[in-house]
Amino acid sequence: MPNDVIEGRCLCGAVHITVTDPAGWIGVCHCGMCRRWSGSVFACFGAAPATVDITGPVAVHQSSNLSERAFCATCGSHLWMRDLQDGADYDLMPGLFEATKDWPLRSEIYCDEAPAAFSLAGDHPKATAEQYRRKHPQAARVAGDA
Ligand SMILES: [Zn+2]
Ligand SMILES: [Zn+2]
Repeated sequence: MPNDVIEGRCLCGAVHITVTDPAGWIGVCHCGMCRRWSGSVFACFGAAPATVDITGPVAVHQSSNLSERAFCATCGSHLWMRDLQDGADYDLMPGLFEATKDWPLRSEIYCDEAPAAFSLAGDHPKATAEQYRRKHPQAARVAGDA
């Protein structure tokens, strides 16, 4: 939808995020880092920096040599993951945004590392850790990414 703006917030409401013209689909990653950070299933949607507006107390943890993960400094809600390179997209947490509740799952990676309880139904594209790393060689160099 052109000029569509969605609004999201963290659990305590201190952090507000708006996204203009959002992607409209969700991806899931089951890698060891995403599993640990999310505590469960890591899901996100990509958004270019120019389309994202953020206010509130954001804290950032650099989780590897490639990326950082952000959370609300007040309530701890996870906000996004983002590569460290300039201009990298935000991978935003869908649960912050009411509008994402009808969005389809379009990508699932590190499927072979998914806990049994989190094998997701559907015919969306899936990749194992090996398949993902072959397409994204930088991911193979992330410390602890296993
Ligand atoms: Zn908060
Ligand atoms: Zn991951």
